[in-house]
Amino acid sequence: MAKLKKRVNDMEAFRRMLATQDLKATPQRIAVHEVMMEKVHASADTVYDAIMEKGGCKITRASVYNILSGLADAGIYARRMTSSSKMLFDVNAYRHIHLYDTRNHELMDIEADDLLAAADMGIRRRRFRGYKIDDIEVHILCHPTRKKLI
Ligand SMILES: [Zn+2]
Repeated sequence: MAKLKKRVNDMEAFRRMLATQDLKATPQRIAVHEVMMEKVHASADTVYDAIMEKGGCKITRASVYNILSGLADAGIYARRMTSSSKMLFDVNAYRHIHLYDTRNHELMDIEADDLLAAADMGIRRRRFRGYKIDDIEVHILCHPTRKKLI
């Protein structure tokens, strides 16, 4: 049985990663990462709204998008495209499988290295005429079987 996994980097690890990429730990990047540590997977709009709700940091919606994109380009975050064509950023840049909640449009990390290895073995040896595989991402589409507790 796959276990739910929620691994996020702490702020000191984030600062060290920024330094290795010659990126400054600006108040805006720190505000974005604070939200990402809490949400794990989020769109630029979600991150912007959460920063505005908290207050205390001046930032535009475009800047939030640029920061998230820059962090993804630097390999600190990852980009995840959902089946509803929504771009989410993932604070966990390592390869992992997601459960995608099709009702709430949320991604959850699951620890299932055996499934990832099986998908790799089954797909990487296949040939798709005219295409070369760049990467394999596995999103398991699902919906909750219980109502959320309020
Ligand atoms: Zn993830």
